[in-house]
Amino acid sequence: MNMTSRTTSPLDSPVPRRAVFLDRDGTINEEKDYLWRTEDFVFIPGAPEAIRRLREAGYLVIVVTNQSGVARGYFGMAEVEALHRHMQRELARFGTAVDGFYVCPHHPTAGRGEYRRECDCRKGRPGLLLQAAAEHGIDLANSFMVGDKRADVEAGRRAGARGPRTGGPARAPPAAGRRGPAAAPRRAPGGGGPVRPPRARPTRPPPPARPAAPPARAASATRRRNTASS
Ligand SMILES: [Zn+2]
Repeated sequence: MNMTSRTTSPLDSPVPRRAVFLDRDGTINEEKDYLWRTEDFVFIPGAPEAIRRLREAGYLVIVVTNQSGVARGYFGMAEVEALHRHMQRELARFGTAVDGFYVCPHHPTAGRGEYRRECDCRKGRPGLLLQAAAEHGIDLANSFMVGDKRADVEAGRRAGARGPRTGGPARAPPAAGRRGPAAAPRRAPGGGGPVRPPRARPTRPPPPARPAAPPARAASATRRRNTASS
């Protein structure tokens, strides 16, 4: 059973690639319970621009998402994949795309049938990230997991990726192919002047050296969202 879909092929290059793994609901698009209708899909403001900037900075952008609505029988993988095609069409209007979608359709106790089981891919387990890393040749130690729930932080940590954590300020990612702390994604390459950083905080890697604030916000977001439904 193929539970994931890819929109790009791994490069032949043996050089490991860096990625930013993004949660979907509540991070890229507005959180709605068991979202599957394309007409209900709404980007969080700034998210498409953040995705574009990350890719311009040399990162793969990989979506990793728990969709237990499949296990619960609310919708099928075909609907999940249709929603992701819709997201790609919308991102194209911003001149960007996602490099891969990885989906956990399972739930350990809800629903019935093949999707009701303990799996390795439901975040906070690291399976989706590990699968994406294997398929895209991703260097996890130089990659980031960004999401709005504790399960996202935990999945990233267990996969060996970096990301906002409670307990201390996170470090900024080095920009691929550039040097210096002021490099992208804060600034568009050759784009004629500074570009505002995206407002959707969860879709952005942790900013450099702002003690306490980003982890605190991440932690509070995690607590707020911890009981959400996905
Ligand atoms: Zn799973």
